[in-house]
Amino acid sequence: MKKHYFLGLAVGVKHPFKQLFLHGTAKDSEELTKYLDKRYSGEVMLCKNGRSALTLALKAYFNQGDTIIVNGFTCYAVYEAVKAAGMKPVFADISRENLNFTTETLEKVVSDDAAGIIVQNTLGNPVDMVAIERFAGKHGLVIIEDLAHSAGLEYPDGREAGTVGAATILSFGKEKSVDAISGGAVIFRHPKRHEIKAPTKLPKISDYLRERWYPVFGLWCRRLTRIGLGGVLMRVLLAVHFVERSADNRLDITRRPAHFEAKIALSELKNLRKSGSRRVREFYLVDDRRATLDELQEAGYFFGGFWYERPVSPKRYYKKVHFDEAACPTAVKVSQQIINLPTYYNESDLALARIIIKKHLIEEEHD
Ligand SMILES: *Cc1c(COP(=O)(O)O)cnc(C)c1O
Repeated sequence: MKKHYFLGLAVGVKHPFKQLFLHGTAKDSEELTKYLDKRYSGEVMLCKNGRSALTLALKAYFNQGDTIIVNGFTCYAVYEAVKAAGMKPVFADISRENLNFTTETLEKVVSDDAAGIIVQNTLGNPVDMVAIERFAGKHGLVIIEDLAHSAGLEYPDGREAGTVGAATILSFGKEKSVDAISGGAVIFRHPKRHEIKAPTKLPKISDYLRERWYPVFGLWCRRLTRIGLGGVLMRVLLAVHFVERSADNRLDITRRPAHFEAKIALSELKNLRKSGSRRVREFYLVDDRRATLDELQEAGYFFGGFWYERPVSPKRYYKKVHFDEAACPTAVKVSQQIINLPTYYNESDLALARIIIKKHLIEEEHD
């Protein structure tokens, strides 16, 4: 039978049933807190997800109405966090090489109202942090590091991502660089300007159960795809809310993650490769994405979702953002051309996918 390779569906979870019954206690959350404090040097709060962590970081250092500069190629969660904190996001265009803003694109959007800048190291490609720090210093901007894609990454100058800004946030959501299905953390590295209440409420039971079961459901969907029914099962699970799309994970700054999630996150953090090449996704820019995806699927690769199909993804939330496309032409273009390969498969499994993608690669025109 033909092999299938999936993007997502908890492929990265090695033992789905083990995760279903994994026992976690308050001690696991405490250990994670201590570990994060040591690694990133600051006051730690564990959160329901990355966007809640980001909201707390923003509330701690900025005032209502402040403008925050955000990467022009990102997920809705980042936008949502800035809005939830009562601030105004402004998007900076990106470079085609690393999908991050540069000092040139930042210059174009910076204003007197700008108070902060969120560095996200898109897909695990580091920004030129030395240049960004210089830029931030010049304009009086506070840097927040978002490690959803880049825990364990090193900047070109050798410093570890998460050890530079005023605050660091992590997401432990599906497919993030630390994947515990859900969860997040904020580390306040500089003294906070505003009081922040730590999230202490228990997770909702519905969220708790969803997170427990997701790896098992993912496994079943993967299996059923062999007889053409994986998509059907996933649609049913979504319809009855046994599975939730990552983008729909609610922002809630009052809740902490489940202890078992803290336990998984800690073990993943300890195992992160400490190397400059760590990426959550390898990306390629192709001329005809539809045709490329069709060929990939024909060959057994199911690349349903990719990061990102819109400058602020997913598609169904894009309209809400009122994204200024004229201000970020590169982000718009890249969102139409990008394909990502996951990094949790080994080389031989991805060999055929690479050959297919190569046929469609865009020859870079240099300016
Ligand atoms: C996913 C993501 C977040 C938020 O993480 P959640 O845990 O899903 O809330 C923040 N920043 C970036 C860049 C992300 O991709």
